[in-house]
Amino acid sequence: MSESNTYSGNDPRLGLLLDGIVKLAAGDLNARIEVSDARDEIDAVIMGTNLLAEDLQIIYAELEQRVAARTQQLHDAHREMQLMAMTDPLTGLSNRSAFADALSDAQETGHNGSQRPAILLLDMNGFKAINDSLGHTIGDIVLETVARRISGAVREQDMVARMGGDEFAILLHNVTPSMATSIGNRVLAALDSPMEIDGEHLRCGASMGLRMAEAGQSAQNLMMEADIAMYESKTDGKGKLKIFQPAMLHARQLRNQLVGDLKEAIAGSQLILNYQPIIRLDTRGIEGVEALVRWKHPTRGIIMPDEFIPIAEETGMISDLGGWVLRTAVGQLQQWRSDPLTASHNFTMRINVSAADLQRLEFVEDVRDALAEAGLDPSLLVLELTESAVIQGNDLDRYTLNSLRRLGVGLEIDDFGTGYSSISYLRRLPVDAVKVDRTLLAALGSDPSQPALLAAVLQLIRACGLNAVWEGIETEEQADYLLSIGCTSGQGYFFSRPLPAADLTEQLKHHKTWPIS
Ligand code: C2E
Ligand code: CA
Ligand code: CA
Repeated sequence: MSESNTYSGNDPRLGLLLDGIVKLAAGDLNARIEVSDARDEIDAVIMGTNLLAEDLQIIYAELEQRVAARTQQLHDAHREMQLMAMTDPLTGLSNRSAFADALSDAQETGHNGSQRPAILLLDMNGFKAINDSLGHTIGDIVLETVARRISGAVREQDMVARMGGDEFAILLHNVTPSMATSIGNRVLAALDSPMEIDGEHLRCGASMGLRMAEAGQSAQNLMMEADIAMYESKTDGKGKLKIFQPAMLHARQLRNQLVGDLKEAIAGSQLILNYQPIIRLDTRGIEGVEALVRWKHPTRGIIMPDEFIPIAEETGMISDLGGWVLRTAVGQLQQWRSDPLTASHNFTMRINVSAADLQRLEFVEDVRDALAEAGLDPSLLVLELTESAVIQGNDLDRYTLNSLRRLGVGLEIDDFGTGYSSISYLRRLPVDAVKVDRTLLAALGSDPSQPALLAAVLQLIRACGLNAVWEGIETEEQADYLLSIGCTSGQGYFFSRPLPAADLTEQLKHHKTWPIS
C-alpha cells in the first residue's frame, strides 16, 4: 500500500476540508478549499466540493437576479396601480382622490403671506345635451378636448383634475386672488371657442367657481365652498367666474331649507293654482285659462313660481309638482264645465310644462289618465312649453311631443321671442300655437318701431301655420292695437290678473266679457 492511499487521522487537508464545508454551509459561497499537490482521493473530494460550491454560487446568483426582477415587477405594478387609482383613465388627468390629496398637502404647506393655494372648480354647460344627442363617443372627445384646453391654459405648477362627469378642478399653488382670477378667466376663454369634432362645430362653455384657501380650513370644506361658487355661476348662466363669498353660503342654506319645505308642500296641501283668463280680442269672451301655481308657505307667505319652479326642476321634484298641477287643473276645468252656472263658457285649460316632464316616458300616460278621469276631451287641454325646452330637445322630447300630439292635446310654445326662435325649427315642431312673450309688448308705446315689429312677428307666426296668443296685455290701447293687426287672442292684467278658482268662478257666473266692469 502506498503512502498516499493511507489516510492518517492527522492529514491537515481534512481539517481544511471540514473548515471549507462549514463555511459553505454557513452561506459563504465564495469559500474554496485549496487542492494539494498530492492529487489523491482527498483532493478529489476537495475538488468536487469546490465544484459544488461553484454551481451553488451560479444558481444562487441566478436566483437572486430573478428575485430582483420579480421585486421590480411587483414594484412597477404597484406604482401603476397607485397611478391608476390617482388618474382619470379618459383624460389622463388626476382624479378626484389625487386632487383631494394634493389639496390637503397644499393646505398644510402652501401659505406664505398674500400667496396661497386656490381652487377653481368648473362644470361644462350643455355637455349633457351633446352627450345625449351626439352619443358618448363624441362626448368623450369633447371631454378630452376640454382637458387639453384647460391644461394648456394653466401654469406648469398647477394641477388639473377631472372630478367626474363634466366637472373639472384646478389647484393653483401660491396665488393672490387677482392671479387666480386671471388664470380662471384664461381657462374660460380657452373653452369658449368652438371645437370641431367629426365635422360638427360644438360649443361647450363652462361655469366656474373660485375659492381662495384660508389657513386651517379643511380640504373638504374648501371644496364645498368652491362648489357653492360654481353653482352660483351655473345659476347665473353666463359662463362667468364667481368668487366664493360667505353670503353665498347663506343663500345655499336658505335654498336647502326651501328644498325640504317644498317636499312637504307638494305632499301636503300648500300648493294652490291661480287661473288667468285668455281672452278673444274681438268678442272679449273667455277662450282659455292658464293655471299658474303658487306656494302658500306656512311661515313665508305666498311664494311665486319663479322662486321655486327652478328648485323643483333641479331636484327632480318637478314631476310630482307637475303631476299635481295637471290633475288639479283638469279637475277644476271639469267642475266649471259641469256646473250649470259656469258651463256656458267654452274654454280650454292651459298648463305650463317643464322641460323635465318631456323627459319622462310616463308623462303622456299621466296626461291621458288625468283627462280620462275627468271625462274631458284631450282638445280641452293645452300644454305650454318654453322655447328653450323644446329647442334643446332630444329624441325623447320629440317622442313625447308626437305622442301628446296624437293624443289630441294642444301644444303651444311659451315665451316666444325670448330665445332662438328659428323659424324653420318652429315649422318642424308638432305645435299649433305660440304665446308671444310679454317683453315684446312691453316696449310698445315707448319704442316707435315696435308696432312694425309686432306686425312682422305676427306675420311670421302665421306663415308657419301657427296661431298666436299675446301675453302681458296691460292696457286697452295694447289690446286694440293687437286686434287691429289681426291678432285674435290675448292675456294680461288688463283683462284679469291670475285669480283663485273661487274668484274666477264668481266672474264666470256673472260675466260674459272681460275686463269685467
Ligand atoms: P309664464 O308661463 O310666462 O306665465 C305668465 C306669467 O306672467 C305669470 O307669472 C303671470 O302672472 C304673469 N303675467 C300675466 N299677465 C301679465 C301682465 O299683464 N303683465 C305682467 N307684468 N305679467 C303678467 P307667474 O304666475 O309669476 O309665473 C311665472 C312663471 O312660472 C310662468 O311664466 C311659468 O313659466 C312658471 N310657472 C307657473 N306655474 C307653473 C307650473 O304649474 N308649472 C311650471 N312648470 N311652471 C310654472
Ligand atoms: Ca305660460
Ligand atoms: Ca310666457
